[in-house]
Amino acid sequence: MISVFGSANMDLVAYVTKAPKRGETVTGRAFATIPGGKGANQATAAARATSTPPPPTPAADARPGTSTPGPDAQPGTSAPGIAAGPGTLTPRAPGVAFIGAVGDDAFGPVMRQALESAGVDVSRLRTVPGPSGIAHIVVDDQGGNSIIVVPGANGTVTGVSEADLAVISRSDALLLQLELPMDAVVAAARAAGVPVILTPAPVQDLPRELLDAVDLIVPNEHEAAAITGLADPEEALEALLELVPEVVITLGERGALYGSRSPGRPGTPSGGRSGVRRGERLRVPAVPVKAVDTTAAGDTFVGALAVARAEGRPIGEALRFATTAAALSVQREGASTSMPTRPEIDAALR
Ligand code: ATP
Repeated sequence: MISVFGSANMDLVAYVTKAPKRGETVTGRAFATIPGGKGANQATAAARATSTPPPPTPAADARPGTSTPGPDAQPGTSAPGIAAGPGTLTPRAPGVAFIGAVGDDAFGPVMRQALESAGVDVSRLRTVPGPSGIAHIVVDDQGGNSIIVVPGANGTVTGVSEADLAVISRSDALLLQLELPMDAVVAAARAAGVPVILTPAPVQDLPRELLDAVDLIVPNEHEAAAITGLADPEEALEALLELVPEVVITLGERGALYGSRSPGRPGTPSGGRSGVRRGERLRVPAVPVKAVDTTAAGDTFVGALAVARAEGRPIGEALRFATTAAALSVQREGASTSMPTRPEIDAALR
């Protein structure tokens, strides 16, 4: 099982020929409300990428939050272990649990339902008084966009509860991003007790206590450069390995870079430029495809990577799985709507 502790936002997308200047009003040509947020997107990507079929979609008239049993009622959560290897994959618990908050406005139930439909366990998704998180997005005809995120309910998540930790502790990994308050992210990382995978977006200063609790960090190349001050991804990778034991830097259509420290005392000097003992280094090319919309390619990549690692796949195979999932997603419009299912990923890998 994968746990995701993160944001759920409703994306409010206005499509315009030309974005308005200050004081100007323009007429848009289309509008869409799309469930998003980096946390919810990664949960959806991971759920789609798991080999377990999602539970039946609740009946159309089911009320949000009433169709999912509590965490202790999840079947199979105490079953041990994972059978590794393609074709024989048996996650030890239902695929993905999402921990976060939505508001008691009209968007909350829609976001909850979207996660449930993807097969995500939303029993730890709280509904809090006030508005849900939203991302107000203007997309112009040149494909440029401007985005305002209002955290809403996400901003009320100030820590992890015992019940949240009970779910996290049964997971193979905890996925974190930076759209919740930093104190909550740090608390979750420190208390997790399972491997922590951090997407450092939106990029910001990373407290030492967070980095110390992270096992794998997955920035894109811009985030890697912002964190390290190094524009060259290979140099940024080495610098990040001084902070975190494993690093993946995604490079868009150029694929991804991976590095690990060698086992042993973290940060033990090797005499090399990086100052850490050198482990594995891999460069994984992207799958050459015609991209139509790269929104949430990174979230699809991380969700699929977490699933593949939870299944015990070696890192090279896990990176190919994630790269394939992300390549499928960029060939379709949208964020959660573009994320591939497990059969689609398996078929593309054959
Ligand atoms: P986003 O912010 O849009 O979610 P990101 O900036 O976090 O994305 P990227 O580095 O752009 O992440 O992409 C993540 C992964 O998606 C890449 O490592 C690659 O495997 C895949 N990918 C992205 N763009 C393309 C593309 N044009 N063709 C094929 N694969 C792609």
